[in-house]
Order: sequence, then C-alpha cells, then structure tokens
Amino acid sequence: MEETKIVAPEERQLNFLEEIVERDLAEGKHKSILTRFPPEPNGYLHIGHAKSICLNFGLAKKYGGKTNLRFDDTNPTKEDVEYVDSIKEDVKWLGFEWANEFYASDYFEQLYLWAQELIKKGLAYVDDETQEEIRQNRGTVTQPGKPGPYRDRSVAENLELFSRMRAGEFEEGSKVLRAKIDLGHSNMLMRDPILYRIIHAHHHRTGDSWCIYPMYDYAHGQSDSLEKITHSICTLEFDVHRPLYDWFIQQLEIFPSKQYEFARLNLTYTVMSKRKLLELVKNGFVTGWDDARMPTICGLRRRGFTPESIRMFADKVGVAKRDNIIDLSLLEWCAREDLNKRANRYMTVLDPVKLTISNYPEGKVEYFNSPVNPENPEAGTREIPFSRELLIEREDFMEEPPKKYFRLKPGGEVRLKYSYIIKCERIVKNDAGEITEIICTYDPESRPGTGEWRSVKGTIHWVSETHSVETEVRLFDRLFTEPDMDSIPEDKDYKDFINPQSLIVVKGHSEPSVLEDKSGIAVQFERIGYFVKDSDSTDNKVVFNRTVGLKSAWSGGSAN
Ligand code: ATP
Ligand code: MG
Repeated sequence: MEETKIVAPEERQLNFLEEIVERDLAEGKHKSILTRFPPEPNGYLHIGHAKSICLNFGLAKKYGGKTNLRFDDTNPTKEDVEYVDSIKEDVKWLGFEWANEFYASDYFEQLYLWAQELIKKGLAYVDDETQEEIRQNRGTVTQPGKPGPYRDRSVAENLELFSRMRAGEFEEGSKVLRAKIDLGHSNMLMRDPILYRIIHAHHHRTGDSWCIYPMYDYAHGQSDSLEKITHSICTLEFDVHRPLYDWFIQQLEIFPSKQYEFARLNLTYTVMSKRKLLELVKNGFVTGWDDARMPTICGLRRRGFTPESIRMFADKVGVAKRDNIIDLSLLEWCAREDLNKRANRYMTVLDPVKLTISNYPEGKVEYFNSPVNPENPEAGTREIPFSRELLIEREDFMEEPPKKYFRLKPGGEVRLKYSYIIKCERIVKNDAGEITEIICTYDPESRPGTGEWRSVKGTIHWVSETHSVETEVRLFDRLFTEPDMDSIPEDKDYKDFINPQSLIVVKGHSEPSVLEDKSGIAVQFERIGYFVKDSDSTDNKVVFNRTVGLKSAWSGGSAN
C-alpha cells in the first residue's frame, strides 16, 4: 500500500469542509457555526466514529463554534442506555465537550406535528400496502414506480388514520406514513419515502408513549433544523439522501441546515460495522467491546492508545471526498509519536536466556540510577538493580551470527544498557542443543560515569534475575488477516479471516520499578515497544497489553 504522507496540521491546506465554513462565515451566511455528532445508541463507538467526532468538534472549535451531541434514538428495538453511557464516556475521553446533549426522541412530538402539517399540505399519506407491495410499486432504477391504491386518500382520512396509528390501534407493519413526492423520480429515495412505521416496543427514554417511530431520513434533518445546526456532516453514502433532507426543510419552511458528506474512514485489517462488532462480542471471538483488539474507542483505550494519538490520527487522515482505506500502521505511527514523548521507560525481557557474569562477585548488588524518560527530564529517575545473574532476550544472542550482527556473540562485546560492557566467554547447552546459559565477563572500567566512555557497537536490555518481577504480557496482533475486509470474496464470511494469532500471552520479566509507575499511560519496554497496564491486573499479577511495537514493521506477534 502507498505510504501515507505525514503533514503537520499547520502546514496543510484547508480541507473542503473548512473551505465551505470559511466561505459561509465570510459571506455572513452564519454568524457562528454549529455542528453535531449524531450517534445511534446501538453499539459502542469505533475509530470511524472518532474520526467523525474529531471532524465535527474540531471544525466547530477551529471557527469558534459549538457542537451538540445528539443521540439518534429512533429505533427502540436496537438501542439501549448502556450505549448512551459508553458514547458519552468515549467522547469525553477523546477530549471533547459538547454544548448540549440532545436526543432525537425529545423531538418526537414536534416531528409528529410536522408530519400532520405535511399531510395537510397534501404531501404525506397513510399507506396500507405491505412492505413487499411498497417495494414492488416503487419501480426500479430503469422503471418508474406506480401509485398504490391509498396514495390519493383525502387529507381528513390521512389525518384520522395517522392519529389512530399514534394511538396504537394498528398492528406493526399494517400501515406506514409516506411522503407524497414523485414515484417517477430518478432518485429512488424520493419515490414516496416512508416517514413513520409502527413499532410496539419500549423505548429507553420515551417508554411506551409512542408506538410510531420516525425513519432516519425524516428525523435526522428535522432534528438538525430544530437545533439550528449550520453544517450537518455525514458520510458519503448519505449523498443520495441529501435531496430528501432539503425537501423536508423546504416544505416545512424551517431552519435551513445543510448536509455535507465526506468519505468514511476505513482501516486495513479491520471491520467497523456495528453489526459485525456486536457479533464478534456476542459469539465470543473477542472478550468484549473493550477487547484490546477491537477498533472500538474503549478497545483502543485498553490497548494503550491515548486520546492525543487518536486525534493526531484523525488529523493525518484528513477529509476525503472519495472512499479510501487507511493503513492501520498510520494509527500505530501516531501512538508511537505520542508515547515516545511521554512514556516512561523500563526494561523487560520477554523471551529470557540466563546470562551469568563470572567475574562479578556473588551476592553483590549495585544500582544504576537512570532516567525514567530521556525525552522528559521531569519524569525523574529509577534505580535499576544489577547482579551476577541476569536475563537477556534470547534473540539478542547468536551463536553463528551474520557479518553485521552487533548484539551478543561468542567472543563479542556489548553494553548492557545503562550499565557495563560485557564479553561472551562461553555458552552452556542442554541435551536438546538449546542454549541454557551464557557465561560472560564484565569490564569494571566501563561503568557509566566513571573514567572514559568506551563505546561498543551493540547495546542490549537486561534484568537482574533475582530482582525481576514476573508479569503477564499480552502480545496483540491484527484481528483479521486480510488488509481490505470490504473486498473479501462473496462466498466467504468476514469471520473466516479472524487471525488465530491475534493474541499471544507470554511471561515478562521486568525491572522492579515498573510496578511503581504512576504515569497512567503506556510505558516503553526498552527496545521492544509500548505496553499499558491492563485492568485485569490484580495485586498478585500485573498484566500488560502491547499497544504497539517500537518499529513499524509488523512482527506477527514476536517479541519486538
Ligand atoms: P452502523 O454500523 O450501525 O451503520 P453508523 O456508522 O451509521 O453505524 P452511527 O451511530 O449512525 O453509526 O454514526 C454516528 C456518526 O458517525 C454518523 O455521522 C456517521 O456518519 C459517523 N461515522 C460512522 N462510521 C464512520 C466511519 N467509519 N468514518 C467516519 N464517520 C463515521
Ligand atoms: Mg447510522
């Protein structure tokens, strides 16, 4: 995939939405702008929503405007307060404050009155046709629709039937209210779209007050208009809905909110449909909405992504007018960018081999006082215990290394990070031929801070075996094996592409001060990557989630 060009926000050109807003403000069309983020509370928010949140809130903020949080709660059968609460938490966590918290359901009465108004104007009618009949009479892209038997009901009859629909006199599916627009319209959505359907279900806010519920198209634009939203930003697939959006506003002569569409965010190796995410949770493919492999905001949070890194990502992705797919590695790059500045450093060995320093006194312990974060002196220092018996990463030693191998090899020297230079004297193997111990000597003169600094080509990380603390380390990989999950073959299901290696659990051996870390964000395991303490941690066992490796090349679940 093509590499994404990284441009700092201040250097980039205005995106097309910023251009529109600047023009509208310059022309005096609006004194200030008002945007909204309109989630349906039928699932947890994901990284695509984060993009929309950053866009809506970011645009308003940039031009001194405001943003409403509006729950698009028009379908009682799928919605729940659990989702409302999680959405609010996630928007706040991302760092945004809404001007007002609104619910489309707050507008049900007004929407009902407006529907009556459309009926009175001869622009809406009650239709008794079945769903199937409606579909058939609507025609096709090449053939115009034809009027059904109820299209010419009188205003009085329509008003009466509509009020009886509201009163709960009819069965689900027996009647709908439709706009009377144009059955020959080239845009199928304009062929007498449905405004209301009967649903006898309990609503999480309005309880049992309603048994007719407005359709998205009827509720959304009118909700925008009621709130006086100036720029209603949605994803590209809604461009065909725009004529309908405008039609209602014109016919009802209400505040002219305008809809603008941008390309939705797609990410490689990721699915984002709420239906699929729900299925992954329900069927136990992941441990929950906040599983650290999920693209949900709570999953990313648990994985160790920071709000800063997600906002940076949203900015780098930019605003496109055509659908595209963004490389997951850009999100990871943003996490590294942010965490490199802020994460405290600790050494951890994930795949240990024992290393003994034969000329270091038995029982002796010394401490190396080292910066917690070299990028941030204010983070302070930590004491790293050193002793005769250490653990190093198995892959930092090679018995028969290639030419330019600068880590430990027979007869070779490396520096133990923050500490002495050691030389490999010999190795010990078991019957299976595996290396069980590396015997080294150290150079006492090479202690940092004493005498002249001697440099060697390789530096490796280590921990003192007896001082090290054991942790559980969860190495996450991509949840799916296929880059473009929207283009999988027809005869396959997205679940066929779940990566069986998406979680590998190993034991970590960490320097003890990692347990005292108070930063609240991911830490860097030096030379390996960024790892965040997981909520599964207990007093006896600390669990770390790998956020991202240090290097951009994907490692397929290995240690670095
Ligand atoms: P579903 O998977 O149920 O279709 P949805 O994406 O329509 O979900 P909503 O809760 O309706 O979910 O979305 C709230 C807002 O977030 C909408 O304005 C929508 O356009 C935007 N949004 C959703 N997904 C993305 C995405 N991948 N990229 C950008 N914006 C998105
Ligand atoms: Mg939606």
